[in-house]
Amino acid sequence: MDKKIIKRLIDEINFMTTQTQEIKIMEVCGTHTKNIAMSGIKSLLPPNIKLISGPGCPVCVSEESYIDNAIEILRKYNVIIASFGDMIRVSGTNGNLLDEKAKGEDIRIIYSPLELIEMAEQIKNKNIVFLGVGFETTAPVIALTIKKAAERKINNLFFLTSLKLMPPILHYIMGQTINNIDGFICPGHVASVTGSEYFRFIEEEYYLPAAVCGFEAEDILIGIHNLVKQITQKENKKLNNLYTRCVKSNGNPIAKKLINEVFKVSDGEWRGIGIVKGSSLNINENYKKYDALNAFKIENKSFKINTNCQCKEVLLGNKIPKECNLFGKICNPFKPYGPCMVSSEGTCFIAYRYKEEV
Ligand code: SF4
Repeated sequence: MDKKIIKRLIDEINFMTTQTQEIKIMEVCGTHTKNIAMSGIKSLLPPNIKLISGPGCPVCVSEESYIDNAIEILRKYNVIIASFGDMIRVSGTNGNLLDEKAKGEDIRIIYSPLELIEMAEQIKNKNIVFLGVGFETTAPVIALTIKKAAERKINNLFFLTSLKLMPPILHYIMGQTINNIDGFICPGHVASVTGSEYFRFIEEEYYLPAAVCGFEAEDILIGIHNLVKQITQKENKKLNNLYTRCVKSNGNPIAKKLINEVFKVSDGEWRGIGIVKGSSLNINENYKKYDALNAFKIENKSFKINTNCQCKEVLLGNKIPKECNLFGKICNPFKPYGPCMVSSEGTCFIAYRYKEEV
């Protein structure tokens, strides 16, 4: 981080803002939230600039019924559950997968979905169910794994997916009556797959500025500077791609093709929020045999809101973690009550870990 550049950016941000104008900027992605906290950016900004965290952590937005479904499949069908590490600590309506593991169930942590191909070929006498969560960023590698499973005629590997799309939830946030966000820091890794144009609707439909940013502290600060400049000037608000070293306007055509080949856009359920139209990628008809919801018969879970947890309001940027009565008491990283306290990119975890009001 070049100290001179940082100082210049901070000086200019201070110069552009007045103490009376509150500016609210939402960073949508959990990696941005984490890096903002780690680098101490908030302490450098004038107090009237509020950085608010949005719904960009895949673990945080995974619905209770998703965890319930995974536990039901595990108990009824004696499968191996494969998952990214954080997911097994997220609770459904009745416990989490870590508890199931403690009871002796076969739950394995993997680091890349591609490991599943070798695992399925080696363990032929058992079915494996992978918990495929994430956003547009993880969807291509999960699609590739499903395609590889089909090519190799693997019959014992299934995917319980909860893959979310960014634009519908951003529409949802901006459609709230209490929404008063002045600008968005858009996730650079999503845009590297989809292209920066994916976020053009923020400018066109909501007349708000947006900046596609990288993940270094300097990248984020340049993004904040760009947004503050636009917010404080009267001219038309724009989407700016400030991460051109990784993001093209039309994204990565190979990754997008993989997504389109394997998934279809469907309505999706978000933790505490409920169904958001067109916000999910589900496995399409061509690859239906790999869809765990098709392969295993389970009860249809109805949507349920846990009223004690304020994750919904935190995810939508309406509350900060400390406004939840459970924060730091019943809910902490050692014993998370809600999903936002589980992952290192969860807003509540970050607020607890870095002792700041994210
Ligand atoms: Fe949910 Fe815990 Fe955060 Fe409260 S502190 S909103 S219970 S994760």
